Amino acid sequence: MTERENLWAPWRIGYVQGLSKDPSAAKEGNDCFICRNLRTPQDDDENLVLWRTPRNIVVLNRFPYNNGHLLIAPVRHIPDLSNAADDELLEMIKLIRESQKALTLAIKPHGFNVGMNFSRCAGAGLPGHVHIHVVPRWEGDTNFMAVCSGIDVISQSLTELLKLLRQITAEHQLPKL
Ligand SMILES: [Zn+2]
Repeated sequence: MTERENLWAPWRIGYVQGLSKDPSAAKEGNDCFICRNLRTPQDDDENLVLWRTPRNIVVLNRFPYNNGHLLIAPVRHIPDLSNAADDELLEMIKLIRESQKALTLAIKPHGFNVGMNFSRCAGAGLPGHVHIHVVPRWEGDTNFMAVCSGIDVISQSLTELLKLLRQITAEHQLPKL
């Protein structure tokens, strides 16, 4: 595989089309799915919330670039790292480590992409609430995902994967912060 090959994720079109046209609506967290998830712990299953930690939340991305795509976001609705406190930053980095640990136990990726997008022009779908993407990778996955495209397949596998990750969380007492 060359670096020029990108993951092909056609189910993301629903997400891209659903993006708010009005960035100011997201400012106070009213239009922010992370803040909505934070406010509704009773809906954690439906919202694919994996972990709630003192300063962050970890959720499975409903519109994943690849199987097991996790998002790590601080509890506070802040747009970038300059607004983050040291203890928030430290916990975010530890959660990258713990996410990789859990995903490795669950689905044995060959590698990971970990990254952040700042503002729409850089691809941030949720520019008001900073978050880290943890994307598992497998050799040949650019071909694999093209075969496995389909919203139904993805959402069913998300529910199954959440179950598996929670089981691993319990067995291994994750996340260790
Ligand atoms: Zn938010």
